Amino acid sequence: MATPHDEVLAAQEAHLRGLDDADERTIFDKIVAKEIPATILYEDALAMAFRDVNPQAKTHFLVIPKIRAGLTRLSKATEEHKTLLGHLMYTASVVAKQENLDAGYRCVINDGVEGCQSVYHLHVHVIGGQQLSWPPG
Ligand code: 5GP
Repeated sequence: MATPHDEVLAAQEAHLRGLDDADERTIFDKIVAKEIPATILYEDALAMAFRDVNPQAKTHFLVIPKIRAGLTRLSKATEEHKTLLGHLMYTASVVAKQENLDAGYRCVINDGVEGCQSVYHLHVHVIGGQQLSWPPG
């Protein structure tokens, strides 16, 4: 039976599918379409979490929107993406719990050239499983 939460996700999914997305497909679209393999940790109508292929800590996974809806990078966010962005952060916390990151972890979104972004499909890095240092480079 569909819960109220499922209905919110379904409404958001329809909303995002209605937004323009003329950007090129990325490697992450191929992971969402299961055209290339990834270790998927979580998936719902809006979000997917999978392990980073080149981990920067003992635990390193990415949380991405399944429907990019123009959100190639955080700086492209509009009012239309507010619910999706909240959902991605919430998903990061759910998967971090699933991964037993009880002692803490870090969420990072790289934006653009100076932010060292390499894949232009918005993603939240979740890094943990060990003591991290600060500040980053
Ligand atoms: P960015 O530099 O854009 O913030 O992060 C992109 C991340 O995607 C990098 O940490 C990189 O290791 C990861 N990545 C790139 N290609 C793949 C892939 O094909 N599979 C997975 N699982 N991760 C990838």
